[in-house]
This record gives sequence, structure tokens and C-alpha cells, in this order.
Amino acid sequence: MRYLSLRWLLFVAAFVTLTGVISLLGITVLHTAQHQLSHYAAQRDSRIAHRVAHELVGGFRRGGMSGLVRQADTSASQWGSGLVIRNGSGRVIATAHPPGIRSSVGASPAVTVPLRMGGKPIGTVALVHPPTFEPRLSPVLRAIERRLALAAAVGLTIALAVSIWVGRVAAAPFRKMALAARAVAAGRRDIQLPLVGLQEARALAEDFNHMAQALAASEQQRQRLIADMAHEFRTPLSILLGYVTALDEGVSVPGQDPVALIRDETRHLVRLTDDLQMLARADAQELELSLQWVEIRPWLRNAINALTDLAAQHRIELTLVLKEGLAHAARYDPDRLRQALGNYLHNALKYTPAGGRVTVTAQSDADTLTLSVADTGIGVDAEDLPRLFDRLYRADRARSRGTGGLGVGLAITKKLVELSGGSVGVRSTKGEGSTFWLQIPLDGPPAS
Ligand code: ADP
Repeated sequence: MRYLSLRWLLFVAAFVTLTGVISLLGITVLHTAQHQLSHYAAQRDSRIAHRVAHELVGGFRRGGMSGLVRQADTSASQWGSGLVIRNGSGRVIATAHPPGIRSSVGASPAVTVPLRMGGKPIGTVALVHPPTFEPRLSPVLRAIERRLALAAAVGLTIALAVSIWVGRVAAAPFRKMALAARAVAAGRRDIQLPLVGLQEARALAEDFNHMAQALAASEQQRQRLIADMAHEFRTPLSILLGYVTALDEGVSVPGQDPVALIRDETRHLVRLTDDLQMLARADAQELELSLQWVEIRPWLRNAINALTDLAAQHRIELTLVLKEGLAHAARYDPDRLRQALGNYLHNALKYTPAGGRVTVTAQSDADTLTLSVADTGIGVDAEDLPRLFDRLYRADRARSRGTGGLGVGLAITKKLVELSGGSVGVRSTKGEGSTFWLQIPLDGPPAS
């Protein structure tokens, strides 16, 4: 089924409007001309009738009744109109008509004026137009009509041209956009529309360009994610394969426990897959919290204790500071928040060189619990800070086995904390260290 196109719609709308305006103007002009002409004719008739009345009275004065009749004939042929003269009691006392016209009696008079003598009315004279009189006005009207028809024809041609132009100009950006959208759908990512044309078309083109850029960026991110994932999985898998082959062939690795190494690598792989799964669930809005009132201190000690071995391995001093007035309990999901804090802690241990310090601080006010993880590590460039919590963002693009990650840990932390009704943030100075913090409401996320 074909739908009405915008181009046609605008064309028809513009054409109908312009045609309507032109017709209305034409009718108004014609009507006004007719009205003005009739008005002019009536004024002229009245002037002539008064002149004729004056002449008739003059004729009567000069020669009595026969003087009046003579004057009536002269006036009738001079002015080209029939005359019907009545006395004071309304009886017709004389008629006159221009040459070629037989009688004026009975025809409807154009105008009737009184005949006065010495200020006293003595009768009336009526001006009666011969049948040839009215058509005399017609040529003027015909000329106006012809001009109007010509003007209307020119106007309609202009209207047609303007309508076609309006339809084209308004529809062109949509056609271009449709073509561009098809190209994007077909896989092209470098499409950018020129910002030209009407205001709305420019705004739409700008939005389209942003969308195309976002698509290109997400496509790039997807490609990078696949490459990173392949890299992340490949390294531990190769190591695992090496150890398993060595075990299989009975080759021992001096000074190393192959089972412990295999366990470490496997743990690393499990964490990676957990992170990816978590991100996928967050994207699908499938993450749910199991909220409960949790005693903050023991929960925090457990979370820190689980990492003391790792901190010791890295030769990093890991301390927990509980600020005065810290609330006894808060309402959150202990496992999810531990994961969120765990990501901060793992990063702090990962990005802090041996001999450094990592300090976890817990404090609260009337409504919120704030947990921060401060390290004396490598810090983050100021330009990287705003995007650090974006998924797949890594400040250290030159990955190394020691610090390389997928760049999803902080995004997961942000997601989990936001689900808990809180917020996250970071302060950092390159080369000196960073402080990552999270803040959640003590009595849990507001009910939605
Ligand atoms: P990754 O798996 O790469 O560590 P994250 O989302 O946890 O992913 O962190 C994103 C990036 O933030 C890291 O690649 C790193 O560049 C930077 N980063 C995170 N924590 C720290 C920290 N404590 N010190 C310095 N840089 C950090």
C-alpha cells in the first residue's frame, strides 16, 4: 500500500492555499469594482436628473408647457436618457426619449427628482435609461475581468511553481535521510549528513549524525571488546594448556605448584566470565538486589580480610578505618555491595606498586553510608577521570598481564551502587594515587 508522500501533501496544501487566496482576491476585487461602478453610475444619474430638472423648469419658464416639452426633447437627446415628467398629483404630463428609442413610459426609472419653481415642488422628472444604457458599463467590467483573469493565470502559475518548490525543499532532507539510514543499516559507519535546509531538517540531520557517530563508536567498542576478550581469555587458556600438557607429560615446573597455578588462572577466567555475565544482566535490566539490614562493621571486616593475602602478596599495606559515628547497620544487598567494593579494592591492589598503601574508610551521616578506597598507586590522568566509570573504558590502554582488564569492573560497581540508590565518584592525581568512593542511603534505595 502506498501512503501519501510528504512532498505531495505539501504541494497540494500550498497549491490549494495559494489558489484559494488568489481566487478570494479576484472575487473581492471584482465585487468592489462592480459596487464602485454602480455607485458611480447612481451618482452620475442623480447629477444628470438634477441638471435636467433645472433645464425643464427653465423651459417651462421660457415657454410654458410647450417650452417644457421642447426642453424635455432636447434634454433627452442630450443626455441619452428617457424622461417621464409628472405633475404635482403624479399624472404623466410629458415624456421624451433619445432618438431611436420609442417610449420610456413603463420602464423602471433610474432616478426621480422633484421639479421646483420658486422653491415649491410642482412635479417630478424621472430619468429612464434606454435598454442600451446598462451595457455601457459592461465594457469597463469586462476589462477589469480580463485583467483579473490574466493576473489569476499568472498567480496560479506562480502558485504551482511555489508549491512544487515547497514540496521539494521540505521533502528533500527526508529522502536524503532515508538513503543515509539505509546505508547505515547496510553497515556503513562514516555517513554524515550536511546541515543544510530548513531548521527542522538541520536539527534532524544533526540528531542523525549523532546517532551515526554513536553507532560507529559502539561498533568500535564492540570490535575492541571482542579483541580484548580474545586476548583476556587466550593468555590464561594458553598458560593452562601449558601446565596441563606439562602435567600430562610428567614434566615438572621447578619451584612452582602446577595445581595452584592452574587454580589461579581458572579463578581469573571465572572472574572475567562473571563480570561479562553481570554486565549482560545489567544491560537486560535483570539485576535484582536482595535487600536486608546488614551490620556494617563485620561485613566490612570480612570483605577486607578476604583480600589481606592478596595485599600481602603485592606487598601493599591494606588498612580499614572506621570513622567515629559510623552507623551500626544499613539496608543493602551485602553480596552485590561487596562485589562493588571488591572491584575498587582489586583495582587499588592492581594499580598500586609494591610498598604502597590502600586504605578503606567507612563513615556515615544521618542518611548515607560512604565507603572509600584510597591508594598510593599510579593515579589517573585528569582527562580520563570523567570516563572511568564508562563500560569498557581503560585509562591504561597499553595493557599488561599484571594490570590488563576488560574495563568493566568500574561500570559494574557504578551499576550496582546506582541500583542501591547511591552514587560513585573518584578523585585522583597522576603519579600520587586515587580515591574511589561510593555512597548509598542507609535505609536502602527509595521504593520505585
Ligand atoms: P579494568 O578491568 O581495566 O581494571 P575497570 O573498569 O575496573 O577495568 O577500570 C577501568 C580503568 O580505570 C582501568 O583500566 C584503569 O586504567 C583505571 N583504574 C581503575 N582503578 C584504578 C586505580 N585504583 N588506580 C589507577 N587507575 C585505575
